[in-house]
Order: sequence, then structure tokens, then C-alpha cells
Amino acid sequence: MKLIHESLILGSVALDTIETKYGKAENLLGGSATYATIAAGLYGDAIPVGIVGDDFPKDGLDIFEKFSKNLKDLDQQPGGTFKWGGKYHENGDDRDTLFTDLGVFENFNPSIHTSNKNASWLFLANIHPSLQLSVLEQCTNAPLVVTDTMNLWIDSTPEELKKIISKTNILLINESELHLLTKEQNIDKSIKEVLSMGPEKVIVKFGSKGAKCFSENENIAVGVYPVKKVIDPTGAGDVFGGGFISGLVDGLSIKEAMLRGSALASFCIEDFGLKKLLNVSVNEVNNRIQLIN
Ligand code: AMP
Repeated sequence: MKLIHESLILGSVALDTIETKYGKAENLLGGSATYATIAAGLYGDAIPVGIVGDDFPKDGLDIFEKFSKNLKDLDQQPGGTFKWGGKYHENGDDRDTLFTDLGVFENFNPSIHTSNKNASWLFLANIHPSLQLSVLEQCTNAPLVVTDTMNLWIDSTPEELKKIISKTNILLINESELHLLTKEQNIDKSIKEVLSMGPEKVIVKFGSKGAKCFSENENIAVGVYPVKKVIDPTGAGDVFGGGFISGLVDGLSIKEAMLRGSALASFCIEDFGLKKLLNVSVNEVNNRIQLIN
């Protein structure tokens, strides 16, 4: 079977309505798989796994076509595309979910195309952990698994989440989610506990303070490119993850892959939705990597 030199990226494909202190934008192309595919796709490294409805705009499909040559696992079915609305607090970081309209997501049961099953890298971006598990179980080539999640799954499906974490090589998680998952406020104890669940490494995202990769033997920290005005932080974690896994696909070290993720995320937050990210070049990303402390 043909070797795949891209990462399979499972997650949501959504139409987002986002409100921040800088304004409101409706029906933006979003979703964890979308953000991650665009980040990894800039390097030619993305195969998205997701579902959209028959209301999905042609512009959205054009964007997927631009960032991935392999859309065999991007399914389109009759019904509505997943819709999510979120409003950020004045501090710009915390947010409330205003609505979630599952649409075609409700019956999403991905069946990975035979030719994609032997992928060597798998990014399980934020989505229901049972879907993450199902896609992993269909992979035949023991891929390197990077998993992301969110507070919703920690609260609502902790057992399924722990199962996928136990099969994960590198877990990506926010600082607040780390404490929620482990029910422990002390960071060292939290890390120890997460590492005991199975992953070899856990990368904790500290927002504007950067990210740190913890493992048994070493810790690797990367900072951020200082963005003056954070217009919309939606998707920053997914972009970090997409950039990170594309770095692994390209043979970078963990630190270099994290720097790629961090630099890409800095573009994501400079405008609503994907507006800024869609026009970024590899050169611009590299310039920002040099400026990350
Ligand atoms: P982030 O800011 O990294 O948490 O990612 C935001 C993206 O996650 C948005 O584009 C949403 O469409 C998507 N999203 C929100 N809630 C969910 C959910 N329950 N499952 C999957 N994706 C979601």
C-alpha cells in the first residue's frame, strides 16, 4: 500500500458565530479540524477527517481543496453543518458557548477510506472522544497519536476520554483543562498523573505564556510571538496542534515543531476566524519563529 506522508486530522468542521470585545462575526468557517488542516496544510501535511452538511459554502470547500490534496475523508451529507456560537469575556481568554447545533455531526461515524488507514501520524483534534477512538482503531500502521480535547469532554465523557488518552503518544491540553482532568491544582502533580495515564509526553498550552512539553526525561518550553491586539483567539489551540504535527511529519524536533505551532497560532488570533491565517506564507511563519523567545 502507498505510504502516506501526511497526517490524518480528525475534528470538527463548523460554521462559527463569534463575539469578542472587537465585534461579532457570523457563519465563519471554523472547527478544530479546519483550523488544524489549514495550519498543517500550509506544509502539505494534512488529510482532514470530518463531516459537513449540504449547507456548507462552496468557499469552505475551496479552502479545504487549497490546503489538502486528499479530501477522501471529508464527508458531505444532507443536513446542516455543525454550528457553534461563542462569546469571549472582557479578559479576552475565557469564553461561554452560546449555542451548539450538531446538525450532521449527530450521526457522524467516520469510516476511514482504505487508502488513508495506513497514515503514520494522527492528530485527534478536539471532538467527542468516542470518535477519536473509532478513528484510531481504524488505523492500521500504529500511527504516532497526538490528541487534543476540551473541558466539555473532561466533564461529560471522562471514561472515554481517559481511554483515548491511554492510547495517545502526545497529549495537548490547556492549563485549566489539565487541572480539571486531574482534579489537582499543583502542576507537577497534575503532569505526573497525566503521564501515568499513558502518554509519553504532555504539552500544556499556557495561552499568551507559551507552551511546555513535559516528559519523564526532559521539559521543553517555547514562548509566543507577541501579538499586540488579540482580536479572536478561537482556534489557536487547533492551529498550534496542526502546526505541531506537521512539524513531526516533516522530521522536526519536538521544540522546532512547537515553535512552528506557536508561530502559526500567533497569526490565527490576529483577526476573526481564519481571515489572517489563510494568507500567511511559510516565510512569514519562519520570520516569527525567529522572534519567539
Ligand atoms: P478552540 O478555540 O481551539 O477551542 O477551537 C474552537 C473551535 O472548536 C471552533 O471553531 C468551534 O467550531 C469548535 N468547537 C466548539 N465546540 C466544539 C465541540 N463540542 N466539538 C468539536 N468542536 C467544537
